[in-house]
Amino acid sequence: MSEFSINDVGVKVGLEIHQQLATNKKLFCNCIPIDTEEYSIKFQRKLRAAKSELGEYDPAALFEKSKSKSIVYYANPDSSCLVEQDEEPPHELDEDAKRISLIIASALKSEIFSEIYPMRKTVVDGSNTTGFQRTMLISQGGNFEVEGTKIGIQSICLEEDAAKNLGDKGIIRKFGLERLGIPLVEIATDPFEVEPKHIKKIALALGRILRSTKQVKRGLGSIRQDVNVSIKEGGVVIEVKGVQQLDQLEKVVEYEAKRQQGLLEISKELEKRNWIHDKEKDRKDITELFAKCKSKIIQSAIKKQQKIFAISFNNMDGIFGYTPYEGIRLGKEIAELVRFFGIGGVFHSDELPNYGVEKIDIENLKEFLKIDEKDAFLILAATEEKIHIVIDQIISRIEFIKNNGIPIDTRLATMNGETKFLRPRPGAARMYPETDIPPVIISNEELEKAKKNIPKSWNESLLDLQKKYGLNPQLSEQIFDSRYIELFEKIVEKIKINPTFVASILCSSITNLERSGLNSKLLKNKDIEKSFQLLDSGDIAKESIEIIFESIMAGKSQSTEDAVKNASIEAVKESDVDEIIKKIVENNQEIIKNQKERAVGPLMGIAMKELRGKASGELVNNLLLKNIKMKLENFD
Ligand SMILES: [Zn+2]
Repeated sequence: MSEFSINDVGVKVGLEIHQQLATNKKLFCNCIPIDTEEYSIKFQRKLRAAKSELGEYDPAALFEKSKSKSIVYYANPDSSCLVEQDEEPPHELDEDAKRISLIIASALKSEIFSEIYPMRKTVVDGSNTTGFQRTMLISQGGNFEVEGTKIGIQSICLEEDAAKNLGDKGIIRKFGLERLGIPLVEIATDPFEVEPKHIKKIALALGRILRSTKQVKRGLGSIRQDVNVSIKEGGVVIEVKGVQQLDQLEKVVEYEAKRQQGLLEISKELEKRNWIHDKEKDRKDITELFAKCKSKIIQSAIKKQQKIFAISFNNMDGIFGYTPYEGIRLGKEIAELVRFFGIGGVFHSDELPNYGVEKIDIENLKEFLKIDEKDAFLILAATEEKIHIVIDQIISRIEFIKNNGIPIDTRLATMNGETKFLRPRPGAARMYPETDIPPVIISNEELEKAKKNIPKSWNESLLDLQKKYGLNPQLSEQIFDSRYIELFEKIVEKIKINPTFVASILCSSITNLERSGLNSKLLKNKDIEKSFQLLDSGDIAKESIEIIFESIMAGKSQSTEDAVKNASIEAVKESDVDEIIKKIVENNQEIIKNQKERAVGPLMGIAMKELRGKASGELVNNLLLKNIKMKLENFD
């Protein structure tokens, strides 16, 4: 095993950012883009193997169909109509979406086309009811600067967002239609060569340009980034989807570059072996032979009436476990592939005996397969109709790696910063013209208007925040990048309250509560606003804000009013607080005698237990100090 160094492989990275636009309706209908999880409509479709109008089949579509999923769509009439259900043709293009996308293209100095042609892009996973996504190439070229380096823009598209995946259950996959058709811009950068630790900065800079328009959506899921990774000798660009957090970018790119370089090493190793797969002889049903095998996985497969199959590989001993770099193995590639077909796993000869498969099982198997020490084998279980499809896929993947190197996949970023197989990359047949919508003309007037509306740069926006609200540089950056910037401005314009206090509650308090596992989605803007209003009118203490948010985010209260009632945190009058403190001072005379004025520390703890959320810490502290002093005078 060699040490992997990313600087040796010439990694190139391209970013693809998908940003939802903050419009009042969807791209091709009048539905309002709202987040709902209540559905009153439900309908089912089979996945179609999409044949494009040019008459070619898409490899990704065929592949997806081989998994034979049924798709169930859930809809709410408030957020979707017959257009999303594919029962009605699309309406006219949303003017706001068009206008915002032109501003973004202008801000990135991208060349906008005077005529824009709506296209259909084949989508194979069921996330569009039509089987395609509508997309329009708005502009090409352009650039933006990050710390003195120019990053090129390849293209900017305006397109429909896909339906929201609600999860798979057996052969059923569920989608919610509320997100389908929300306008988004897709910005693809040119590939750039950069140290992995700088990728995050570039993605962040691009995101900030978009947010500067103040016309894009904020919050979880409103911006998604894919990253394209290639290495100098690999010859292919691998698209990695679904990088959730910018912090993950560096790790994902490093892992993917290592995997690609590792596959080249595995390819060289495969080339040395004299292996050819014989479809008749090299795959055998071993269900009976393994009927008594002690492996739990094998036994549970047999119970489910599945077939156990073994595939033999001549002259391939050691190849599945061969590890050119840490964590990179052919066995892992194969395991990812079979998992994609809903198969739990696959055993390979380099890891056996193990998992309940014993030495005697292996000896019997080798005899049955007529193979010896220099050969390898795989064991897997699946239903009878599925097993040959899966085996064919395994064989063609290994053949591809042997003959060509890196398979051209679309991959998915994992939570721990690796990438896993998602599906084969779609072929060129993927795009064809959308005949339901006429070409969109961009007038000179619209172009001029877009140029005039190019937003201030991020730096200028931050300076504005600092000047206008007296925020420090760090807090102005935090609030600008957060999803609460518009709400922040609304609150401090309306309510006379310290902007720094509002910003830090919106940035850090909510984030802290999220980190402790609470759900910020439950906390609506109107409740945040209401809480600050109550503080302004003296109905609650500063400390109560967090208690209210906590109660709502934990699902214990439905609204601010509800939370105030539940946590009994109405502010206590100052005279009542004074009464409570007097009592505490009376009950703790010993501490005061011993510690004099320093007794305020321990007594503060006792007082706040009783008064948390009902009176501010500052008030309690002042009253304690006053009463302790009075007590000390009485002692003398
Ligand atoms: Zn609609």
